[in-house]
Amino acid sequence: MKILLTNDDGVHAPGLAALIKRVSEVAQVVVVAPDREQSAVSHALTLHHPLRAARISDNIFSVEGTPTDCVNLGIHSLLSFRPDLVISGVNRGANIADDVTYSGTVAAALEATLMGIPAIAVSLCTKGAGENFDAAAACAARLACTVQKQGLPRDTYLNVNVPDLPEERLLPPLITCQGKRSYEGTIVDKVDPRGRNYYWIGTADLSFEDIPGTDYHAVSRGHVSISPLHIDLTNHASIEALQGWEVR
Ligand code: MN
Repeated sequence: MKILLTNDDGVHAPGLAALIKRVSEVAQVVVVAPDREQSAVSHALTLHHPLRAARISDNIFSVEGTPTDCVNLGIHSLLSFRPDLVISGVNRGANIADDVTYSGTVAAALEATLMGIPAIAVSLCTKGAGENFDAAAACAARLACTVQKQGLPRDTYLNVNVPDLPEERLLPPLITCQGKRSYEGTIVDKVDPRGRNYYWIGTADLSFEDIPGTDYHAVSRGHVSISPLHIDLTNHASIEALQGWEVR
């Protein structure tokens, strides 16, 4: 099995190092990752300036771009083979509920899926530096073998979130759906040393609705959460109702 690894925390992030170590035990690995942190860039693609890639070791490339750029460059240019699977992560911080839409980690998996390559995004649910990247990476390596054997449903990729716990304390994976964030005021509004106002989008109150079956419900109880995500954002159930509108 040949696997392309990427992330959005940057090529030197500890979560990626853990992933390289564990996935190398089950597959041939090539890394194409951003040269610096690119968290919350979502599915951004660099179009207005050239991208530089640097080979920093035999199988590791760093790119001056986004996670989506990395998957593109990796598959269309840097790799000498088409990978069987793309894994993005292990992200420092959960990618659950509404946050999935901001995530560069998840977008890299989406990009691979658009290219017809199976993909997994993996995140460690930590609010700090993260302690158990290795356990999350081991989980990703096991899941990679399962995906290789079973295949994935059409146009579907996996968003995996792992509680920041030692491996022996992790509860079994649950298949979940995307949860819901409850938003509170998270803008820091201050004055800079030159007297000008500035604003900083923060994450002061990270709370989620505790709905059974969701990613949040699973990880908050110590389970690994595996959500199958689809590239089609259409709300199919609403098509018929909207067709009844008089739209001119
Ligand atoms: Mn990140």
